[in-house]
Amino acid sequence: MGLFSKKGCAVCGEKAGLGSKSLTDGELCKDCRKKLSPWFEEYKGSSSEDIRAQIEAREENKKALEDFKVTKAWGIKKYATAMQFIYDQDQKCFVVVEGPEETFRDRNPDIIRFDQVRNIWLEVDEGWSESGDQYAPKSNRILTQDKYDEVFWRYDFYLNFALDHPYLKQIRYPMNFKTTVIQVPQRFFLFKRGLELAGEYQREEIAYQADRLEAMAGKEDAFIRLGKYSDIIRLKYSEQSIPEHLVQDVKNDLYLKKIENVAGHVRRADRISRLILGK
Ligand SMILES: [Zn+2]
Repeated sequence: MGLFSKKGCAVCGEKAGLGSKSLTDGELCKDCRKKLSPWFEEYKGSSSEDIRAQIEAREENKKALEDFKVTKAWGIKKYATAMQFIYDQDQKCFVVVEGPEETFRDRNPDIIRFDQVRNIWLEVDEGWSESGDQYAPKSNRILTQDKYDEVFWRYDFYLNFALDHPYLKQIRYPMNFKTTVIQVPQRFFLFKRGLELAGEYQREEIAYQADRLEAMAGKEDAFIRLGKYSDIIRLKYSEQSIPEHLVQDVKNDLYLKKIENVAGHVRRADRISRLILGK
């Protein structure tokens, strides 16, 4: 930190105070930092010359965005500040930017060419908590099998791009806007640790996980239908109250929606990977 540095910013010469960063040959002020890519983190290995080049490239980028034709924007549309993957099929390039699609150019997102991407991998952060609260902390405690269907499984998805790019080495962006929280019922004697999805996946592995989740949603749907059918028969002969029955229906619908939501993120990662890296 260049907090008490007497020298000015190595790029613009203004005072480098609070919020400045150290470069190989001086300090970089807060105002100059604002001109850099939101994905840029390599201050330590950069010189003032590198930073000047990036600021210049970012100005060029702003102009190039005027010619960027949106083929599609892939991301959560429900929230205005959710991240979007937006691409231009003809020019074979993309941006990753906080939405919405209509105003993304205002944020001057870095245009990345498909051929600047060395690799793509999906990172799934899976954990559990005892409450279903959106912001509940993940637990580090040991979870026994008999508790698997009582806890709330939590999912976050990050898509990573390793780049050959003048000033960016990597982009890692959150694909979901909110953590997906889901209770996973155990069926028969099969104990499932959530959706068993923790890990890093690339290429075919991403497709495999998307297929697996979609198949799981299909199976669960069939299972629930079967359950409903036997419930109807049972209802005729039992004292089970109708409201309890309806609560179960709502729970099942929610569960299916959550699996589809998770599968949706994984499928989107698969589409992006195929678009950029090919089959
Ligand atoms: Zn400066």
